[in-house]
Amino acid sequence: MENSFLKRKQEILKFNSAMEELNLRKRYETTVPKEIPDDLIVKCPGCQKFIIKDNFILDHKVCPYCNYHGRLTAKERLIDVMDMGYTELFTKIHERYLDFPDYENKLDKAKHDTKEDESVTCVVGKIDGVSCCVGVMDSFFMMGSMGSVTGERITRLIEYAGERNLPLILFTTSGGARMQEGIISLFQMAKTSEALARYREKNLYIAVLTDPTTGGVSASFASLADITIAEPNALIGFAGKRVIEKTIKETLPKEFQTAEFLLDKGYIDMISDRKDLKKTLAHLLRLHNYR
Ligand SMILES: [Zn+2]
Repeated sequence: MENSFLKRKQEILKFNSAMEELNLRKRYETTVPKEIPDDLIVKCPGCQKFIIKDNFILDHKVCPYCNYHGRLTAKERLIDVMDMGYTELFTKIHERYLDFPDYENKLDKAKHDTKEDESVTCVVGKIDGVSCCVGVMDSFFMMGSMGSVTGERITRLIEYAGERNLPLILFTTSGGARMQEGIISLFQMAKTSEALARYREKNLYIAVLTDPTTGGVSASFASLADITIAEPNALIGFAGKRVIEKTIKETLPKEFQTAEFLLDKGYIDMISDRKDLKKTLAHLLRLHNYR
């Protein structure tokens, strides 16, 4: 038993040093090296280094070399931040109002690829023992775009939390309003903002902005929190950088629309590494007397 454990440990150490060497040697190559099966490693989009997949997942999908924070699915985020035993809410809300060409097919593909049924998942549960309502957007579902179902679920979650005096945490990641739903997707900005205004008279709302938070989501509930946290290097903004540069005919700084730039300008309150996020959220909730 002990021998096989030692043998396994030696194998891992050998594998790790081989990875280190590969990273030095092949840092600028774009393909997975042949020596290692490609289902075992991932390439960091930040620094282009190879990372052992299992380690990347255990490290909350954060690169150990450059602290690049990879995008999480809604399920991964919930597992990362919630205690076991949370309950998913409003799963029966599905109705859509517009019959935009090819929309149904796009939705079916997103559902098939992500195993989710919308770009937001709403739950009630606990974070480090503190009860709260949590909504998590998923950028892998039609780029986290906000349609009528997304807006309706978030609004209901806000009302659900308000009725029970529970704190609310929304994890945002979105390309903006869902163009296939036209003006109805834009209605969701007003609807969620109005519900939040009522909720916040008595309760605490924390937004966690993750990469990327843009468009209609950044211009509504992502910007209305009592406490706004962002993940390192997250892209946060309304319109794209190139569009703004062409409109105002000026060159914008390189770090424009990053979490760090926005912290400096006072738009967000803090940046939290993903590994510290659960503790930070629980601490903030306890500070505000939630148990
Ligand atoms: Zn990296």
